[in-house]
Amino acid sequence: MAKVLRCGDIMPGCDTVIEGKTEDEVFAKAEQHVHKEHNMHFILPSMMNEIEAAIKEKQPKT
Ligand SMILES: [Zn+2]
Repeated sequence: MAKVLRCGDIMPGCDTVIEGKTEDEVFAKAEQHVHKEHNMHFILPSMMNEIEAAIKEKQPKT
């Protein structure tokens, strides 16, 4: 099942949606995204928890 992370859930105001086949993939992409777009050079453990909590199953479009 694909996973999806709405960056706005952790970074209010950001409308980027990150998708991946697995949670790990979404996590890796999210890490790159916050490095580049939010100028965070490392991710705090508290933010890791927030990212983890914000990753959801992608709902199939029916
Ligand atoms: Zn973002």
